[in-house]
Amino acid sequence: MTQLAAARNGTVTEAMARVAEREGVEPEFVRQQVADGQAVIPANVGHDSLDPMIIGREFATKVNANIGNSEETSDIEGELEKLHTAVHYGADTVMDLSTGSNLDAIRSANVEHSPVPIGTVPIYEAVKRASDPSEITHELLLDVIEKQAKQGVDYMTIHAGVRMEHLPLTDGRKTGIVSRGGSILAQWIEENGMENPLYTKFEAICEIFREYDVTFSLGDGLRPGCLADAGDDAQFAELDTLGELTRTAWEHDVQVMVEGPGHVPMDQVAGQVERQQEVCDGAPFYVLGPLVTDVAPGYDHITSAIGATEAGRAGAAMLCYVTPKEHLGLPEKSDVRDGLAAYRIAAHAADVANGREGARDWDDALSEARYAFDWREQFDLALDPDRAREYHDQTLPGDNYKEARFCSMCGVEFCSMRIDQDAREDGEMETIEADVDDRTALEESSAAEVNQPPVGTHDEADIPGPDADMPADTEGRADD
Ligand code: SF4
Repeated sequence: MTQLAAARNGTVTEAMARVAEREGVEPEFVRQQVADGQAVIPANVGHDSLDPMIIGREFATKVNANIGNSEETSDIEGELEKLHTAVHYGADTVMDLSTGSNLDAIRSANVEHSPVPIGTVPIYEAVKRASDPSEITHELLLDVIEKQAKQGVDYMTIHAGVRMEHLPLTDGRKTGIVSRGGSILAQWIEENGMENPLYTKFEAICEIFREYDVTFSLGDGLRPGCLADAGDDAQFAELDTLGELTRTAWEHDVQVMVEGPGHVPMDQVAGQVERQQEVCDGAPFYVLGPLVTDVAPGYDHITSAIGATEAGRAGAAMLCYVTPKEHLGLPEKSDVRDGLAAYRIAAHAADVANGREGARDWDDALSEARYAFDWREQFDLALDPDRAREYHDQTLPGDNYKEARFCSMCGVEFCSMRIDQDAREDGEMETIEADVDDRTALEESSAAEVNQPPVGTHDEADIPGPDADMPADTEGRADD
């Protein structure tokens, strides 16, 4: 039985109870949100190592990280290291977007070790298995989807909204179709003169998803690839189809979230979120960025985190990270770290701005430690403690500076917080208590786990790190 079916039957599952604990809410609230399709718990029945989490606008904003190999790079060890890095730096879900070799073994290893939901895009494997993308058959697609479901994949991007009738609407665009899945399916439709097989076989896919409780992530294959294409007829025609497919999946007791753009000017972001929520009856919105300007390759974790914050404020439930390598190359470990930091900031900022219960406690605790010149505590509470410590110690490395009432930014003479404290002690202004006992107690905070330090929100201990030996059962598997 899927989480959705159980919720509709009035059952609070173990996963719902765990999610309630992590979010600081009542289990019944979780059940109701899932039953109404307003939230999803991506939890394949075969994913044993999963620590369940929830995606929905009434819960803490989540962050996804993409990993995966390409023909040029990476192996199982490298992919597990990427998974480890993503979970360590706070990814709430991870998508395996591998398009190189060894796909089955990499996917199995990721599912086996991951405490977070694993997502995939099955059309990629279908392309690898067909001699040519236009040779992909309906049977092959369903075969790939069923195999991945059996392997324990928790959610899959299905680009079923790319309809034959939508393709001419992309003709006047500046950057055409930029989604990998979208472009592959458009090519298939053009060359075969037939409707998108993911659309025509959608109910068969629902049946597979119901058996394994795989969650749909309805792909936005026609998302805009630049500001000029944002909000055009092609994008919104596809969105209307995604609304129709959302309701079809719900009829099959299958959970659904809906993917969104892409590249959108800042002033249009909130409107796009509101439109998706209306068209898709409140199904969780999972957005890629969006990038709010096209001019900064090399810094697109920043251009997109700005749009992601705005999307989170408007009700987007999960933010798919973008790394500094976007548009330029396959991300490396440092890019994953920078991308996740940017997106955890975006998600947290949105949660604070939306008044999410307890979300600001973390900010308060860090600010109190900062004002007290409690450097060690400030580092420990930082979103990325190692980065905070490293930057501080670049100029003031000695242990004695961990007690100092200044840092190298303003220097001892101009440290405003030191001056403020001295003025309060000597004059009329009230003294601000900065003792440990007066600070915000995070252990008592009602905030969701994702709104609490340390860096990651899941335990990455069981995922092999950089120097680990490979587990025997993931070695030597055959290529796809
Ligand atoms: S020196 Fe400036 S930046 Fe550093 S602690 Fe003091 S006020 Fe803050």
